[in-house]
Amino acid sequence: MERDPVIRKTRADLRVPPNLRPDAIPADPWLESRRALEGLPGGGLNIAHEAVARHARGPAGDRIALRFVARGRAALELSYSELERRTARFANVLRALDVGRGERLFVLCGRIPELYVAVLGALRAGTVVTPLFSAFGPEPIATRINLGRGAVLVTTDELYRRKVRDWRPKMPSLRHVLLVGQDGAPVDEPGAHDLAALMAAAPDTFETVATGPEDPSLLHFTSGTTGTPKGAIHVHGAVVAHHASGLYALDLHPEDRYWCTADPGWVTGTSYGIVAPLLHGVTSLVDREEFDAQRWYELLADERITVWYTAPTAIRMLMKAGPELARAHAYPALRFVASVGEPLNPEAVWWGKEVLGLPIHDNWWQTETGGIMIANTPAYDIKPGSMGRPLPGIEAAIVEHLEAEGEPPRVRPIDTPGVEGELALRVGWPSMFRGYLDNEARYRKCFADGWYLSGDLAKRDADGAYWFVGRADDVIKSAGHLIGPFEVESVLMEHPAVAEAGVIGKPDPVVGEVVKAFVSLKTGHEAGESLRRELLAHARTRLGPAVAPKEIAFLPTLPRTRSGKIMRRLLKARELGLPEGDTSTLEGGS
Ligand code: ATP
Ligand code: MG
Repeated sequence: MERDPVIRKTRADLRVPPNLRPDAIPADPWLESRRALEGLPGGGLNIAHEAVARHARGPAGDRIALRFVARGRAALELSYSELERRTARFANVLRALDVGRGERLFVLCGRIPELYVAVLGALRAGTVVTPLFSAFGPEPIATRINLGRGAVLVTTDELYRRKVRDWRPKMPSLRHVLLVGQDGAPVDEPGAHDLAALMAAAPDTFETVATGPEDPSLLHFTSGTTGTPKGAIHVHGAVVAHHASGLYALDLHPEDRYWCTADPGWVTGTSYGIVAPLLHGVTSLVDREEFDAQRWYELLADERITVWYTAPTAIRMLMKAGPELARAHAYPALRFVASVGEPLNPEAVWWGKEVLGLPIHDNWWQTETGGIMIANTPAYDIKPGSMGRPLPGIEAAIVEHLEAEGEPPRVRPIDTPGVEGELALRVGWPSMFRGYLDNEARYRKCFADGWYLSGDLAKRDADGAYWFVGRADDVIKSAGHLIGPFEVESVLMEHPAVAEAGVIGKPDPVVGEVVKAFVSLKTGHEAGESLRRELLAHARTRLGPAVAPKEIAFLPTLPRTRSGKIMRRLLKARELGLPEGDTSTLEGGS
């Protein structure tokens, strides 16, 4: 269906005066956010102090910080002051175990309260945190703990028995394992501690360790979409960017009821599932269950969510389930919806507008950038398919690589709108990663001439909006054309039968690569020859013969990472019969 190229913002959509307006773009957002934060005596800065302790002592102390829900169980709520006491206890537990500042703690849990307490408590103690997906199998867990030389692991007794115990001798750095018993039951496991017992014995006050802005805070592994996940090192100073992006990209106001659907095993689930909402004193919903379309609509409606941050993969699954489920509820409280993680097809932005009553605001960032960099904000109309504009304080550019001998590489910004090139960011924003774990050479390669090079290809239009083209690794070269998979996938998604699409280049002796598409279908549609021909024709009409796929294959679902990204490298490896490479983050794998 042909649609308008722009969704205009109306006052009715926004409901509250937005934090960002085109006539009031802050000149120095970092300074403003630094001022809004408290800091520690002596110039220190600590993420957890700003997220929890700062509110606990003030008027927001009794406000609910985290509200945990699970199917069939009563909700559990933690106020800011309760979270402050629990994180103090946890920090004291680490101190009693002689866990030093800068040592690393891993968490491997579902979205239970203990996870949030451990992450924030460890940050207060100056301990560096790495959250893992609880669905990881034993090997990816052990590999990451060994790579990160983890000293402490917080997990449940059930996960420990199933995934860690047998591998423990192979994890020499691991000094302490802290176990959460099922439904609070005591834990009796040789070589491990009962976390609840240690917490009960620990004092509930703790003077936050005086970390500085450059002290390490989190070690986050990338999603592994393009290869083996990389460990990105982050610092406490990132809190300034989380505060600013919470304001400007998510439009958080203290009275919001916010829901970030990402698991803390992925950077979105910590930066925007834990830190940013707490910085703004909002109430965050944490759903302990996995995706379920009907339940998600119920939560949006019944929990009166006002700001919702989710991902394209979830939106596509909701679309796949059909509009009737969505229309069984009303969402009068909802006022801002955002998405991250993959390109958001224009069709999905429109779906939001038509089904939820609000367009979806796509935004772009990476594990490496630590926080949202480019976003559709309340300040500007939305061009569906665009990632939006650089946030205040962020200088972005499309750069071209110059021919240069050896290192360092040279790049030059392309000023002409509409030209594709590598998306780059001017070095110096507060949440920039400070290294790849044990890979200084790779880290250095990410920078040239004062720019951070993202590895993503994009273009900027004459209005300053950025458009994603594809990852540099995924771009298809066919008969002299450079084809970004996103454009082809978005056109396929316009077809009413298509739920998701993944496009690859398949080597071809004549044209270099031919475009091949893999699609999965919405409920109620049948794969078959006539649909295949219909999709090929649809794509050809919309894209022209040079860009349209030559081949289409149907799959029940597409392979994706646990953070929900389509793994085109796997589609390609399987198509060509090549080794699959690192599949540790593959959803459904182990
Ligand atoms: P790896 O680096 O291990 O291959 P990954 O890049 O998927 O994995 P993340 O850091 O979780 O790991 O994801 C960042 C990437 O996700 C970006 O570089 C980009 O390719 C993609 N991405 C995120 N948001 C968007 C968006 N709004 N539009 C398009 N792509 C996006
Ligand atoms: Mg990446």
